[in-house]
Amino acid sequence: MEHRRFEADVRQILHLVTHSLYSDREIFLRELVSNASDALDKARFIGLQRDDLRSVEGDPSIRIECDADAGTITIEDDGIGLTADEASEHLGTIARSGTSAFADALKEKGENPDALIGQFGVGFYSAFMVAEEVTVESCSALPDSESIVWKSDGGEGYELTKGSREKRGTAITLKLRDDAKEFADNDALRTIVRKHSDFVPWPITIEDAQVNRAKAIWAQSPSEVSEEDYTDLYKHVSMDWQEPLTRIHIRAEGTLQFNAILFVPQSRPWQLDRLDYKVGVQLFQKGVKVLDHADNIVPRFLRFVTGVVDSPDLDLNVSREILQQTPIVQAIRKQLTKKLLKHLAAEAKKEDDNIYDQFWTEFGHILKEGIAEDAGNSKELLVELLRFETTQSDGATISLQDLKEGMEEGQEALWYYTSVDKDRIHSAPVLEGFKKRDWEVLLMTDPVDEWVAMSVPEYDGTPLKSVLTGELPEDEADDDETKKAKDEARPLITWMGELLSTDVAEVRMSSRLTDSPSVLVDKEGAMGSNMERILKAANQQVGPGAQRVLEINPNHALVQTLARLNNDGAAGLEPFARLLLDHASIAEGKLDDPQGFAGRLQALMAKAADSMGA
Ligand code: ADP
Repeated sequence: MEHRRFEADVRQILHLVTHSLYSDREIFLRELVSNASDALDKARFIGLQRDDLRSVEGDPSIRIECDADAGTITIEDDGIGLTADEASEHLGTIARSGTSAFADALKEKGENPDALIGQFGVGFYSAFMVAEEVTVESCSALPDSESIVWKSDGGEGYELTKGSREKRGTAITLKLRDDAKEFADNDALRTIVRKHSDFVPWPITIEDAQVNRAKAIWAQSPSEVSEEDYTDLYKHVSMDWQEPLTRIHIRAEGTLQFNAILFVPQSRPWQLDRLDYKVGVQLFQKGVKVLDHADNIVPRFLRFVTGVVDSPDLDLNVSREILQQTPIVQAIRKQLTKKLLKHLAAEAKKEDDNIYDQFWTEFGHILKEGIAEDAGNSKELLVELLRFETTQSDGATISLQDLKEGMEEGQEALWYYTSVDKDRIHSAPVLEGFKKRDWEVLLMTDPVDEWVAMSVPEYDGTPLKSVLTGELPEDEADDDETKKAKDEARPLITWMGELLSTDVAEVRMSSRLTDSPSVLVDKEGAMGSNMERILKAANQQVGPGAQRVLEINPNHALVQTLARLNNDGAAGLEPFARLLLDHASIAEGKLDDPQGFAGRLQALMAKAADSMGA
C-alpha cells in the first residue's frame, strides 16, 4: 500500500470542485465517460500497431451501473487501462488538455470557477463534485502489466495498491456524497448520458441496454443528419455550450476520400491567443480516433475551427507527428480550406441574417493572417472575405467588391488609410481631399492590416493605394484662384524645404487638404509611419525614424499670408514655418519636440499680444 500526496495544482482544483456550488454537477458523468471513450480509442489505435495487447471478450463498450442502496455508481470500460506508473502520473498530477486548461483559466483570468467547470469540465477530478470517495480499478492492456487500485477521498492524497482486476480496462466506482445520492438511479443516468454523451463512438450500456447512438454522423448523408445531431456533435468536440455559428459537412468520394464536419464557433474560444492553444479538429480513420487535435488539418488562420475529419486513406504506419505531414493529409487540408472559405463567402452573400458579420467581428482578425502569410494559396478566396469600415460606411463594414463598385468618376485606385489610431482616423487631415472628391476610403485600423495592404496590391485589376503615400491626382481644373495661390506659395515651400531638411524628407504642395494648413504623409517606398508605430509598440528595432513628407495647403489663409510675407522678403518667418510642421504632428496625435513647440508658441503669442497693444 502506498499513500501519495496530490500535486499542489490538483489539491487546488479538488478544493474548488468539492466546495463548488456548481449546479450542473451531472457533467461528472460526461467527463468520466469521455475518459473511458478516449481509453477505448487509444486501445484500438495501439492495437492497429501491435498485436500483443490483452484482448477483450465481446465488443468493447462502456458500462454504467449503480446501486441505490449502497449509493454507488460504477463506470467501466474495456480501454487501454492504467499501469501503476500511469495512475500516479495521470491521477495525481494535472496531465493535459481539459483539466490543465481549467487550471490555467483560473490562474490567468481569476474567473468564477463555477462557470468554468461547466465550460471545460475538470476531467477526472469532477467525480469529486458528487463522490466522497473514488476508487479506480484498472488493468492495463499492455502485456505483463499488473492491475492496480487507486483510491481517494479528494482531500490531500490517494492510495495506490495492487489490484485483482483481470480484464483489460478500468472500472471507476464513486461512493456518492449524501447530497448527491439522486444520481444512483438508472433513469437519471440514462438521461444524463443521452444529454451529454450521445456521440461517444462506443456503446454505453445501462442495465445491459445501449443508451447512446454511437454513430459517426459524418459518414452519413447530410440529409439524414438532424440539426440536433450536428449541435450535439459540436458540443461534444468543442466543449462549447453555445450552438455553432455555422458548419459544413463534406463527403469527398473521388480519388481523395474523406468525410468531414467542420464548425465555426459563435465566439472566440478564450484560449485562442495562447501559444499552446490546441486546434479543435479531431482526426479519425474509419471511425477510429487517431488525433484529438489535428493542428495541421486546417491552416493556422482557421485555428478557431472545430470538428471531425475521417479518412480511410490515412497512413497509420507513421508516427502521429509525421502523419500530419503526409501528402494525403496535405491534400485534405487543401480541400477543407477551399470548401470552408467558399462556404463563408456564401454566408457573406446572404442578406437575411448577420452570420457573416458576427463571423467577421470574431474571427476576421485571424483570417487576415492568412492573407499576410498567403498560407496555402488561399489569398484569392480570402480577399473576397475581407471587410472594412470606410469613411462613408457609418460604422458598417464593406467588401473590396463593394468599394470598387462605388468608385467615382476619375478615381483610378481603391484608397485605404492604415492607422491604428481609431479615435482620430475619421478626422485625419489626409482624408480631406478624399472627402471633398466624395471618394470612399477604407479605414484599416488593425495592426495586421499593414501586412494585408502590402499583400494585396490590387483588387480585380484596380490598384490599392495608401492615402498616406499615394499622391492624390490634382483636381483637373484648378480654378484661377487656386492656380494663383499655388504660384504664390511655391517660393515659400521651396524655402521651407531647405529650412526643414533635417526634419522631413520633403516639403511639397498638397492637393489633399481643404481645411488644414499642413499635413504629414509617408514617403513612397519608405517604411510607413503606422508600421513604425506598430513595430515600436511590439518593441521591435525600427532603425532611423520613418522619413515623412510635409504637405502644405496653398488655399489656407495662414499659408497665403505666410507666402505673401515671404514673397515680400519679410524676416522672422521661421517660427511660423516650424509651427506648420508642429501642427501636422499634433493632428496625428503626436509631437516629437514639445519643448521646441512650447517655445515657438510663446514667442508667437508674445508677438500677437504685442501687435494687439499697438
Ligand atoms: P484529460 O482527460 O483532460 O487528459 P483527466 O483529468 O480527465 O484529464 O484525466 C487524466 C488522465 O487520466 C487521462 O488523460 C488518462 O490518461 C487517464 N485516465 C482517466 N480515465 C481513464 C480511463 N478510464 N482509462 C484510462 N486512462 C484514464
